[in-house]
Amino acid sequence: MHARGLRWTPQRRTLIEVLSRTDGHVTGAELVERCREHDPATTPSTVYRTLDVLEGLGLVSHSHGVNGREEFHVLPEAIHGHLHCAGCGQAWEISLEEAGALVDSIQRSRGFAVDVTHLSIAGVCAGCAAAGEA
Ligand SMILES: [Zn+2]
Ligand SMILES: [Zn+2]
Ligand SMILES: [Zn+2]
Repeated sequence: MHARGLRWTPQRRTLIEVLSRTDGHVTGAELVERCREHDPATTPSTVYRTLDVLEGLGLVSHSHGVNGREEFHVLPEAIHGHLHCAGCGQAWEISLEEAGALVDSIQRSRGFAVDVTHLSIAGVCAGCAAAGEA
């Protein structure tokens, strides 16, 4: 952050601390809440602006849930997309390999390069499908 001439403010430090203790997926609102547990003065705009900066540095990435809500990932981690079940609301990660056939076919037919980190597929999971048939 110093390299980019950014000020290492206490609120930014708090966010980085919170992120370093975060596993998997977390929404911006959850991050704001967790930062506020440490520093009640944390404002959402500071958190979102800092997330933007961290994303530019490649330390954080975001994807979207089916409702468009941003979910943040702490890097480094493998590039992946997401499956969201409309029945139970659970989400799963899909690997580059799993998404490969879809990504290749879209690339071939449309010349469109899919950003797998932004790939969120809505549907019904095996558990919910089985419950629905029973
Ligand atoms: Zn996005
Ligand atoms: Zn389900
Ligand atoms: Zn993910």
